[in-house]
Amino acid sequence: MIAGENIKTGLEKVKEWVSWCPKCNSCKYLYKDYAESCPAGEHFKFETYWSSGKVWLAYGLLNGILKWNENIIKIIYACPLCGACSMQCQQDVSDHLIEIFEALREEAVSRGFGPYSNQKAFYDSIIANNNPYKEPHSNRLNWLDQKELKTTAEVLYFVGCTSSYREKELAKSTFELLKKLNVDFTISPDEHCCGSPALRTGQVNVIPELIKKNMDIFKKSGAKTIVTSCAGCYRTLKIDYPKILGKELPFEILHISEFIFKLMKEGKLKIDKEKPIKITYHDPCHLGRHAGVFDEPREILKNIPELELIEMRRIRENSWCCGAGGGVKSGFKDWAVKIAIDRLKEAEQTGAEDLITSCPFCLRNFKDAAKSMGSNLKIFGIVELLKDLI
Ligand code: SF4
Ligand code: SF4
Repeated sequence: MIAGENIKTGLEKVKEWVSWCPKCNSCKYLYKDYAESCPAGEHFKFETYWSSGKVWLAYGLLNGILKWNENIIKIIYACPLCGACSMQCQQDVSDHLIEIFEALREEAVSRGFGPYSNQKAFYDSIIANNNPYKEPHSNRLNWLDQKELKTTAEVLYFVGCTSSYREKELAKSTFELLKKLNVDFTISPDEHCCGSPALRTGQVNVIPELIKKNMDIFKKSGAKTIVTSCAGCYRTLKIDYPKILGKELPFEILHISEFIFKLMKEGKLKIDKEKPIKITYHDPCHLGRHAGVFDEPREILKNIPELELIEMRRIRENSWCCGAGGGVKSGFKDWAVKIAIDRLKEAEQTGAEDLITSCPFCLRNFKDAAKSMGSNLKIFGIVELLKDLI
């Protein structure tokens, strides 16, 4: 994607893998108990919406068996890119499923068929405002009372667009938590969108510029560690940036849960205050399945005295997606909430009072779902819980 004459784009990038699916159908259900695994397949109930169908759709398009048309766009975009299929799939194609789905979107955009208008509006706003929410760039730190930030520090907190403009409590709590822990950190007022909303919807042209701008900001801060409280930003910085640049980043990228747990392991953080509540934890797809961060949030929660963590039926690799990712929240608003309602029902079945997660985008969709179904579950981020206990 970074400029270069021989760089493959769209479906050409995944050509090698699209014939690797023998249609064994293992991706449709969880190995554990044959519970549903794929939100897209379960909702639309047609083969092409499941993982295997989309792989063969890519094969058909690449080999001229199928022709591009408007109907194919819905199938391509009706997928939150949750990655549940890649956890169940035991064939070699499993490692490439998300790449194939994203390549389909990149190809659709390059051919003028995608994305949906709301997703295009996000892209346009990223170019105009450096965030997908049509908010002025100058308002990015409006959630922060204390505007005097250090120019350089050991740690840079990368807030992300959703926490900066929509889930400000998460940004405030993370700031407060890092302060209470005496972390040498700063935030850049010139932070740009990480690029996730554009990348996930196949709108890749803006990505090289965003990477350059954010990398310059990271370098200028002098930080050795970039900490983020958003699962989507985390996946993009940790996995996509090095992949696109073709080299490791000269910074450590940590999710706030990894950062906090590291402090705990080093003996620099001990939680003494009791919190006698029953909670359950939702694994954000981009943090868990995509990046393998399952244990750290759970270990933090287990270190809180009197807190009882009750797990849902489908957890870790087998979690049911919140429904917001992959452009589904903007492209299929009602369906995104329906996926989250399914997850909230599962959370309610545990008897927990609170649902904790580690991503502002999951939080947002769960809050919309709770409102829609009238759930009494209190929903908040792990940092919101922690900041009052330190
Ligand atoms: S995507 Fe994987 S699990 Fe699903 S049908 Fe193809 S090979 Fe089987
Ligand atoms: S990424 Fe998730 S929604 Fe998309 S095909 Fe795989 S399991 Fe289904």
